[in-house]
Amino acid sequence: MILFIHRKDLRTDDLPAFDAICSAQENSLHVLILEPFLLRNERYLEHSGLNFLQHVSSLQQEYAYKGKLLHILYGEPDAILRSLAGVHPIHEVRVHADYTPYALKRDRLLRDTAHALSLRFHTHHDSMLCDLEDFMDWCGRSEPFKVFTPFYRRWRSFLSERFRPPYSRGLQELQTVEIHPQITDTFRIPGEINRLLTALAQPAQTMRPCHLLVDFLQTELQHYAAHRDNYSQEGTSRLSRHLNTGAISVRTVYNRLTENEHLGEEWLRQLAWRDFYLYQARLDPVFFNYENMYDLSALGTHNFEAWSLGKTGIPVIDAAMRQLNETGWMPNRLRMITAMFLTKNLGCPFIYGERYFRLKLSDYDNTLNRGGWLWSSSLGYDASPYFRVMNPVTQSQTHDPSGSYIRTWMPELSELSDQAIHLPRADAIVDLKRSRALAIELYKEILSSKGAASQE
Ligand code: FAD
Repeated sequence: MILFIHRKDLRTDDLPAFDAICSAQENSLHVLILEPFLLRNERYLEHSGLNFLQHVSSLQQEYAYKGKLLHILYGEPDAILRSLAGVHPIHEVRVHADYTPYALKRDRLLRDTAHALSLRFHTHHDSMLCDLEDFMDWCGRSEPFKVFTPFYRRWRSFLSERFRPPYSRGLQELQTVEIHPQITDTFRIPGEINRLLTALAQPAQTMRPCHLLVDFLQTELQHYAAHRDNYSQEGTSRLSRHLNTGAISVRTVYNRLTENEHLGEEWLRQLAWRDFYLYQARLDPVFFNYENMYDLSALGTHNFEAWSLGKTGIPVIDAAMRQLNETGWMPNRLRMITAMFLTKNLGCPFIYGERYFRLKLSDYDNTLNRGGWLWSSSLGYDASPYFRVMNPVTQSQTHDPSGSYIRTWMPELSELSDQAIHLPRADAIVDLKRSRALAIELYKEILSSKGAASQE
């Protein structure tokens, strides 16, 4: 019997591990483990945790609809594996890889546990459009690409030549087995989380990512390049939360894109940024440790709360933070503007914003979120230069001239004219010009401190 553990692959089609299990022609036991660490700080009550639970709930429905069995457990994966192996004739474990520091540590432990129990342990790559090893081999490189544009050119050619279409064998072919009741008893889901799973099960039909994709490709893609930054309109795909939980595979997305009448080069570039960050997380040894590589001690956190509550007195920033807090969503351009404002104008270390987004974004992804925060705070590969500080007022005037986004999220300002609505309020917590000049000096110094902090 093969044990399959779901992670960021909350779907039932196009899964490399399912393809392998089909070939083995064996029974399989399918579990999804709610890991306490990933739901810590009551994350399950925030947009990011709720999005995850909603996808778990949909997955459960999908299994039931196809007449297959999925068992949801709560606990530490290695302890669960030991218990499962004690009561089921498992001889092999299959999972899809995850590359964050927590996931790598968890999987080392899981692999060691499997080997101690004399079980085989297989990891499949699934989350990237181009598998990292294949891509690097094909490029003949051992060093990572540090600049996006040359990376994109090679990545694009690799895809044209080597794209591996979605896997066609799936859950329908598998014989899933019932779990021993002793296991469900021992690793029972806490009541509050279980109630949420049940409550979130209702609207599952409304969030089919494939429909969202097809709809986007048919109606919005052709205008994407022109509309993507006009954040008062719905010009982007909104697929991120489905891609990050794995509810839709990036292979399926690309496959559909290539069948589409309009190829959408600009949209493909965004999918390339996704792979670019996922590669960095594996190739840049300090990707998850930049906060300790630089001396950030000159930065302060006293303005963080005003930023997080949308009370800075800069209308576009406050509107964006209100949208985030209320809905779990913020368009990409506003993520850049609010992140730069926090790290540069307000001089706050990026990790504060990163942690806040971790709870609030419904499409939160550890790697992509860190990539976005590193870029905005001029750290990491191909980041925004330290002297680039987006002015939120001019950004707002350029991308939403009539201020309709601000009017939606800050109705108290809706009576203002198209000119006045973008301007800082009398009680703004910071002077944009002065704070910009200060930020440039500060970040110049921070970037020259590389290594100093890590040696201390
Ligand atoms: P579309 O514009 O339709 O793009 C299609 C897909 O391409 C997206 O779903 C996403 O997978 C990928 N993509 C688009 N833009 C980017 C980008 N700049 N970097 C990497 N991949 C991209 N994205 C997340 O998925 N999770 C996060 O936690 C996250 N945090 C961010 C934090 C900051 C500070 C910044 C600046 C960006 C962050 N992003 C994050 C990237 C980007 O904002 C979102 O991927 C995008 O807004 C999702 O909207 P969409 O699905 O409509 O994208």
